[in-house]
Amino acid sequence: MTATNLIEKYIENFESLFEPHVEFKLKIDFCEVSSPVIRGKDSDMKILIPKMYEDVEFEDHAKELMLLFILAHETAHYINKLTHHKDTSVLDSRAIEIWADFFGCKLLLTVCFYCDFFINRYQMRTNLSVFFDNYYNGLNNMFDTYYNKEHKKYPSKHLRYQVGHTATTSFLTILDNGNLCSSKIILATSTFAKLKTTANVTDKEFRELISYIFNIKHIHKQILGGNTEITYGVKPEYKKYIGTDY
Ligand SMILES: [Zn+2]
Repeated sequence: MTATNLIEKYIENFESLFEPHVEFKLKIDFCEVSSPVIRGKDSDMKILIPKMYEDVEFEDHAKELMLLFILAHETAHYINKLTHHKDTSVLDSRAIEIWADFFGCKLLLTVCFYCDFFINRYQMRTNLSVFFDNYYNGLNNMFDTYYNKEHKKYPSKHLRYQVGHTATTSFLTILDNGNLCSSKIILATSTFAKLKTTANVTDKEFRELISYIFNIKHIHKQILGGNTEITYGVKPEYKKYIGTDY
């Protein structure tokens, strides 16, 4: 499958999580950009993917999932309308990025666990252990490939990877109705631990994470303004994962 085919399937499946009458459109285009990015506001909002990926053919599902993580992270920016917020500090920027990671992981899992194309492609009902192997490898590769460089706008890649796992267990807890003996959570956590890439998260980074959490709520309340949701039309059964009501 090429990146173009995968993106088409992702768009079609993600849009199916919305009520048909709202006619929600996720706009993604290949463009001359150096890394994936979101631009514009309201109806001009668009996710841009570097043109060199257009004809990339994936060798395995871990590579596919890496692209899907990127799309899901940018989609989190998109449906939370984070381009509508003007960052006033590094803390704001980092809070937004960590939230796009957290929200993006839940969004991707919603697509994989609920949309037929991805349920079948990743054998979600019969081969979950292979899926989690590919999923965590994809997540890890994304941070190693795209988010490897130190940049003041971004939290460390180790912290972001850790937050990706927290989002995963959060999603699975809701999926399994709070069952503390969830085999899915045990499987996900042991797969995550196997990769052993979180060792470099420092105490300072963990303390920063607390500040990000306070900022996240504040930022989204501002974007929300007087509305009840930032993006309307998510079907009721998916609001617990990707609702934007804050
Ligand atoms: Zn981002």
